[in-house]
Formats: sequence, structure tokens, C-alpha cells
Amino acid sequence: MDNCVFCKIVKGEISCKKIFEDNDMLAFLDINPFKPGHVLIIPKEHTLDFQSIDEELLSKIIKRAKILSTHIVDKMNADGYTIIQNNGNVQEVKHYHLHIIPKYIKDSTISLDEAFKKITEE
Ligand code: AMP
Repeated sequence: MDNCVFCKIVKGEISCKKIFEDNDMLAFLDINPFKPGHVLIIPKEHTLDFQSIDEELLSKIIKRAKILSTHIVDKMNADGYTIIQNNGNVQEVKHYHLHIIPKYIKDSTISLDEAFKKITEE
């Protein structure tokens, strides 16, 4: 998909703050996070939404979301997290993506770079 921003990220034409990658998917920081540490997981293959995504691939993404959400909450010292996935007219980017949004009782205001450092540090 030539004009798809997430396909461009997959192809390396647009940079991202990568958290995880395998043959099927990519996870990176949302450029405009709802909360610090907000991560998106996308399939590498262009797929529109929850209805069109292959179920086996969806299951792999959900399994990875379980692992990544635990990791993100731990590294960001968050109090919990929310998982959302928009479809239809409320879906801004028309390439399937699952949002993992860490939540904080006391609001956290750290930058994208700081969040990236925390999540990716050993
Ligand atoms: P949605 O409304 O679920 O389609 O949300 C799309 C999300 O993609 C928004 O939270 C955007 O901030 C995020 N987004 C758009 N472009 C980029 C980009 N180049 N890198 C990272 N996140 C992006």
C-alpha cells in the first residue's frame, strides 16, 4: 500500500521507535502518545482492521500484546494499562494496529525519548 504510513514504517521509509519486531509484526511507540509508553503493534502485511485481519495473525499479535503490556507496565512503572483497537470511521490510520496504553494514577509527563529509553533498557 503506497500511501500507508504504517507500511512505510515496515519498509523503513519512515523511522519509528521500535520496541519489538519479528517476521509477522512490529511494535513501536505511538508518535502522539495518550500516555508515556503508548505502544502500537501492527502486522507487517497491510491489513485494514479487526474484521479483515487473519485470525492466526491476530492471535500472534494478542499473544505478543500480553508479553509487551507486562514489560511496558514494568519498565514504565505504570499502575495499569488499556488496550484499544479502533475500526471504521474512528480509525485514523487504515492499517490494523493494537494500542497498548500504560496508565498512571499520578500523571506522568515524560518525553517520547525518555519512554523509549525506559522500555528498551536491559
Ligand atoms: P487510530 O485512531 O487508532 O487509527 O490511531 C492511529 C495512531 O497512530 C494515533 O495514535 C497516532 O498518533 C499514531 N501514529 C500516526 N502516525 C504515526 C507514526 N508515524 N509513528 C507512530 N505513530 C503514529
